[in-house]
Amino acid sequence: MAPQKIAILSVYDKTGLLDLAKGLINNNVRLLASGGTSKMIREAGFPVEDVSAITKAPEMLAGRVKTLHPAVHAGILARNLESDEKDLAEQNIDKVDYVICNLYPFKDTVAKINVTVPEAVEEIDIGGVTLIRAAAKNHSRVTILSDPNDYHDFLRELDSGEVTEESRQQYALKAFSHTADYDTAISKFFRGRYAGDGAQQLTLRYGTNPHQKPASAYVTDGSLPFKALCGSPGYINLLDALNAWGLVRELSQALGYPAAASFKHVSPAGAAIGVPLNDLERKVYMVDDIEGLENSGLAQAYARARGADRMSSFGDVIALSHEVDLPTAKIISREVSDGLIAPSYAPEALEILRKKKGGKYLVLQIDPSYVPAQQETRTVFGVTLTQGRNDVKISPNGTFNSILVPKESAPLPEPALRDLTVATIALKYTQSNSVAYALNGQIIGLGAGQQSRIHCTCLAGDKADNWWMRFHERALALKWKKGTKRPDKSNAIDMLCSGRLPESGPEKEDFENKFDEVPQPFTQEERKAWLSKLSEVACSSDAFFPFTDNVFRAARSGVKYIAAPTGSQNDQACFDTAAQLDITYIEQGTRLFHH
Ligand code: 5GP
Repeated sequence: MAPQKIAILSVYDKTGLLDLAKGLINNNVRLLASGGTSKMIREAGFPVEDVSAITKAPEMLAGRVKTLHPAVHAGILARNLESDEKDLAEQNIDKVDYVICNLYPFKDTVAKINVTVPEAVEEIDIGGVTLIRAAAKNHSRVTILSDPNDYHDFLRELDSGEVTEESRQQYALKAFSHTADYDTAISKFFRGRYAGDGAQQLTLRYGTNPHQKPASAYVTDGSLPFKALCGSPGYINLLDALNAWGLVRELSQALGYPAAASFKHVSPAGAAIGVPLNDLERKVYMVDDIEGLENSGLAQAYARARGADRMSSFGDVIALSHEVDLPTAKIISREVSDGLIAPSYAPEALEILRKKKGGKYLVLQIDPSYVPAQQETRTVFGVTLTQGRNDVKISPNGTFNSILVPKESAPLPEPALRDLTVATIALKYTQSNSVAYALNGQIIGLGAGQQSRIHCTCLAGDKADNWWMRFHERALALKWKKGTKRPDKSNAIDMLCSGRLPESGPEKEDFENKFDEVPQPFTQEERKAWLSKLSEVACSSDAFFPFTDNVFRAARSGVKYIAAPTGSQNDQACFDTAAQLDITYIEQGTRLFHH
């Protein structure tokens, strides 16, 4: 006769316990249970033994040790092997067939306000986790039920004969997930208590919006790769800073220059390398009075990044690839900005930055040797998504070799390669769809986060036009009313250059109030004549151009080089259009969506 089957029951959540016990007994299963569980079954009038019947040891330490015993765990872990049977026989231990266990409510306890560490510690289930893991490990023979919702189906199977292998597998999967979730909650609690705010985890005031609480940033291994030298980061600050840091690090490595980025809403408003600025650029970028600018590649990179689209950069998060020096800090000190991330800070630069925003300016120091994990994880609407990190390398010499138009092409000039690299690396860190225009080692127009590619191309093109209009002599000779603030100047210049000047009413008054001498709008002819001088622009797209309209639009903003993936049904039409417009079309083989 086959030996009587044995179930060990030890449940905190006693939902459905009595029905289960009844069902097991009807199937002639011997029940062994821990203190509270056996009490409930016994009081309901069902036959049950305490686990101590097989451990020959009482529950100890106020319940800390209940089921932790070789008689229990050897019984669960034993396989149907001769050697295991021999071991069991020598110790007079019977095999366990079913384990029913769920854990102390650690999550509920630590969710209570002002919970203490001793209170939380008492809710760390030891024996239950061991029971579950042992049974789940040996699921080829043992059934583990860790969820009362499964009792009904389990009993139905048991009544009809035996629990199938497939069911045992599903229960084991659920059990492993249960213990993993439990351990995650425990490590999260202790990270909050013991890691020290800022070392491995950082409590954030709130998430994307003020009502999204609680919010935090953490790593599970080692330390956070950054520390706040001043201010405290918010959730969006970190999205910006970490994306922007990736961008400048890659840009600087690819081109061998210091690099800077100016981020807003997780896309760059500008990004650049430290190509020396000419006098005109210094004026347009409002940095002509910065002492020592010409000796700082980093300061010139930031002047370019901030200067690309000054209106959008208002309140930016900045990333800088190299140690922040005095000229760079001086530029930043007088702009409206939310924060900065860089590998290190010269003491005199840090002193200036620490005074910004009444001492609340966010200054993050990133560990430049930090390499993020290969696998990225996020949850959306409760669903966890994972993917390999986008670690494709964009480089001037490796990425733009496949020239499709013109057929007989000379190698690309160095500035074109440089600017295509800047545009393409910027796209890698820009919300998709995205198209970027670059010149002189900097972004001059970037269209981010549009659902349609042509809208990106138009947006980026309009921004590039706007950027270029700011170099017009009339835009450079504006007579400002004394006391007009820099952001107000940037906005007024933007209105003038984009041709959005108000025609009447209070808006017109508001515009005109900023000037001693009110500028006349640009005429169509002036605009056309000036824009026709914009040339040699490099344009990159994060995915293929689906229609020729993109190529036509790019050409209107001086684009001479296009780099984009191929794969559209209209590829050939796009190439033909580029050929007509004297544009060099390069296949950039990697789609670079970013979300
Ligand atoms: P009961 O109500 O039966 O006294 O206890 C059930 C709970 O005890 C279950 O949540 C189970 O996970 C947990 N448990 C089982 N064995 C042990 C043990 O040896 N030590 C501790 N700390 N908890 C155990």
